Amino acid sequence: TQLQDEEKSKEYLDELEFLAYTAGGEVYKRFVQKMQMPNPKTFIGTGKMEEVREYVEENDIGTAIFDDELSPAQQKNIEKILRCKIIDRTNLILDIFAQRAQTSYARTQVELAQYEYLLPRLAGMWTHLERQRGGIGMRGPGETEIETDRRIVRDRISLLKKKIATIDKQMAVQRGNRGALVRVALVGYTNVGKSTLMNVISKSEVFAENKLFATLDTTVRKVVIGNLPFLLTDTVGFIRKLPTQLVESFKSTLDEVREADLLLHVVDISHDSFEDHIASVNKILDEIDSADKPTVMVFNKIDAFTNQTIDEDDLTTERTKAHYTLEDWKRTWMNTENTDAIFISALNKENLEEFRKMVYEKVREIHVTRFPYNN
Ligand code: GDP
Repeated sequence: TQLQDEEKSKEYLDELEFLAYTAGGEVYKRFVQKMQMPNPKTFIGTGKMEEVREYVEENDIGTAIFDDELSPAQQKNIEKILRCKIIDRTNLILDIFAQRAQTSYARTQVELAQYEYLLPRLAGMWTHLERQRGGIGMRGPGETEIETDRRIVRDRISLLKKKIATIDKQMAVQRGNRGALVRVALVGYTNVGKSTLMNVISKSEVFAENKLFATLDTTVRKVVIGNLPFLLTDTVGFIRKLPTQLVESFKSTLDEVREADLLLHVVDISHDSFEDHIASVNKILDEIDSADKPTVMVFNKIDAFTNQTIDEDDLTTERTKAHYTLEDWKRTWMNTENTDAIFISALNKENLEEFRKMVYEKVREIHVTRFPYNN
């Protein structure tokens, strides 16, 4: 329905704004357009574009961000019209990853993803430079120059790929050396509280902040619950429309997930779109053949869960989803016999004992099958 569409686009733009903020930007205005199909030339329609152009000009806006990946041609066309920096969702996410990469491995992966994003856009960039130089009377760079650039970028890409392949091998060896300890991986949408939970569980100090993608490099900690040691990995936050360049280049990060024995799928139940988040995460898990692993659904942030107050007169027997209480949710699919689910607050340390017990039981089950004679 239209109302649902509006809610969705608001949520998407909320998230985009949050991403922009994470990247260090400040958002002045949002524009929404409902279309069956994006305009092949300019993504949005002519009228809307004019509206945006006026706003950009009047307010001296430096950057316009689009919530979808723009084709190189679209990006070029829009840049010509708006005369400001044009960034798409992929570009924005790559930028955040680049800012936050802490290890040389992560930096190499991001650089590779950035070059792969850049390659098809090289021609467009030249046009952009031309305009900055004044354009008229200036001969633009010939095809040969663009070709030279393409070759340089291609060479760089193959070099980075080789470098990554070497580190991948080393990392695979390291993972192998970790022995037969049961491996547990925290997965979940970005900003749901994975690092916080990791800290509480392993009593370590993993960086946690209210920004998207605070976690970029995986952290592995040895954790002991009730004499049972296991390895706990905090993985990169998943996100809707994760750029394909990144899915590929973060293969090794995702290997931690692929090789895990147990997944703790953390969900921010206080977020309006938490069901979408679950779906996005499951999609990525599916892509790396990890959808069938034993999984515990960890519904976090129960302290922040609020269900909207409702007018008692409107209350029919069929409650709408927005009016579900936590108790209602617990009675849905989340807590059926074949899903292991737990409701916690990592921040307020609510229900953590239950959580530990559940993890212990699960790890123990796996441990026993692995060392049948030691138990
Ligand atoms: P990650 O991206 O999944 O690793 O998430 P973080 O652990 O960095 O947490 C993201 C934000 O959510 C931080 O501001 C945390 O303080 C906050 N947070 C984590 N757990 C809870 C919780 O149980 N309740 C509330 N209200 N906030 C939480």
